[in-house]
Amino acid sequence: WTLQPPRRRPRRRRWSGSGRACACTTTRRSTRPGAAPRGSTRCSCSTRGTSARTRPRPPRAPRAPGSRASASSSRASATWTPASAASAHASSSCAPATTSRTPSAQPSRTYWNIGKLCFESDTEPYALARDKRVTDFAAASGIEVFSPVSHTLFDPAEIIEKFLFSSANLKNGGRPPLTYQSFVATAGEPPKPVMEKYSELPPIGDTGGYELLPVPKLEELGYGDLSQEYIPPFRGGETEALKRMRESLQDKEWVAKFEKPKGDPSAFLKPATTVLSPYLKFGCLSARYFYHCIQDVYRSTKTHTKPPVSLAGQLLWRDFFYTVSFGTPNFHQMEGNKICKQIPWRENGELFVAWRDGRTGYPWIDAIMIQLRKWGWMHHLARHSVACFLTRGDLYIHWEQGRDVFERLLIDSDWAINNGNWLWLSCSSFFYQYHRIYSPISFGKKYDPNGDYIRHFIPVLKDMPKEYIYEPWTAPLSVQEKARCIVGKDYPKPVVDHEAASKECRKRMEEAYASNRLGGNPVKGNSSNSSRRKFSDGGQDVPDSSMSKQPRKRS
Ligand code: FAD
Repeated sequence: WTLQPPRRRPRRRRWSGSGRACACTTTRRSTRPGAAPRGSTRCSCSTRGTSARTRPRPPRAPRAPGSRASASSSRASATWTPASAASAHASSSCAPATTSRTPSAQPSRTYWNIGKLCFESDTEPYALARDKRVTDFAAASGIEVFSPVSHTLFDPAEIIEKFLFSSANLKNGGRPPLTYQSFVATAGEPPKPVMEKYSELPPIGDTGGYELLPVPKLEELGYGDLSQEYIPPFRGGETEALKRMRESLQDKEWVAKFEKPKGDPSAFLKPATTVLSPYLKFGCLSARYFYHCIQDVYRSTKTHTKPPVSLAGQLLWRDFFYTVSFGTPNFHQMEGNKICKQIPWRENGELFVAWRDGRTGYPWIDAIMIQLRKWGWMHHLARHSVACFLTRGDLYIHWEQGRDVFERLLIDSDWAINNGNWLWLSCSSFFYQYHRIYSPISFGKKYDPNGDYIRHFIPVLKDMPKEYIYEPWTAPLSVQEKARCIVGKDYPKPVVDHEAASKECRKRMEEAYASNRLGGNPVKGNSSNSSRRKFSDGGQDVPDSSMSKQPRKRS
């Protein structure tokens, strides 16, 4: 995984000849522990097998690269686009099922002799639209479609249906379960993963005139010039995922005592959590397999923590957000989203860019944003800190803007989870205690008084004495000079005064909540009556979160 893909016009490759390609689109993610990760060459469908290396190349003018829509539609309609070139490597092992051999030819079942089309069910809106087109086409062409739910523990549609018929939901107006508790009560125990082992894949066979391409090198994908420090320390792939999971689960005591939100967000050499999110996201690790391996550990220990704070409880959070996002129209935005508070966030390009680029002048916030840029992963509470700072804590900027930055830079970027957590952290949904604000100074200090995390990600501050590392602007000039870091020159001054900014934010949030109540927003939570819900839903927020403190006087 690398960050920030540069936009490059991929070479158009030769397409020629005749031949046959496998008719399946390989599942994007797999439930089998032995299954191929995203981007591998395996295919387990019942149509004629071939591999990812066989890709037809219709000679077609490339479309604008980069957009998800173009990538997805290209997979659905099997036209060749630059975006699909990259995504074909990353996400689909086999030739698109309906690819035509010439730009003008109609996709033809007869030509490809397609009998069955296999792809993983995906609840993200763009995928739903794409898959509907594919399924409609398949139905019209007499092609059987097999699209199992395997990315999540449960089938979100089934949970919603179950919930709709449960008595608890009669009061809830027919919505999906909106609290973790109701979700868990409805869901029950997740199904076991499919443990079937597959034998060798059949040989590729005659590909006719189709080229067999090797897995592209990073340089070919346009990442060659990235400096080493921008390469995350986490290797991709299923082997690595299984190794990482086993290493985490080996420490049975750690698993049994795992309790979120406890854990050190500043631990970067040995992160305080599993860092399995990118592997789950890309299908290198099956959520069900992970869940049931955790249960095996629980069975071998006397006691263990329980959801929502336990390790298994984290996977249920994942499914919770998948389910709510599936059942909530416009989940990814404020407008038209019935579970989202309508808040008049302010526009401020300068402050937003300072946050995005790790130049707010608050080292704790900046170090996290730099870790995001360099590694694409940060601890959950680090994400809390920066999300709160951007939105209701200090800058009062729209959560959708922060969401977009995360979406682009996280290696575990996941539509349902990312949007769900941004809704949560901005107090737009799920969590409503807007007066509880993470201090950009004392919160990090609590875990890492020496500021090692900051020194690592912001080298210019590495010689700043620990007394000033969280508030370098308070260091006397002689100290700054000795540390070779002059605030305002080598490192920015704070973009806002946290004390004043957070006070202003609370006031604005109070007004926004009041106007939501008047406007009849269906989300009933408010800052005072939702404390019960916070603790019962637990596992997300820090009970003793360091509250805003007045920054010391500037030097
Ligand atoms: P562990 O603590 O080891 O948990 C195991 C697994 O449980 C994770 O890999 C993840 O799949 C799941 N999980 C843990 N916490 C959560 C949670 N709060 N919500 C849903 N699932 C959870 N996680 C993503 O996977 N993708 C995202 O795009 C994403 N965006 C986020 C944005 C914000 C603003 C915040 C506050 C959190 C976000 N998270 C996201 C949730 C969480 O921070 C990460 O899942 C977690 O830090 C990943 O590290 P881990 O694998 O070590 O987690």
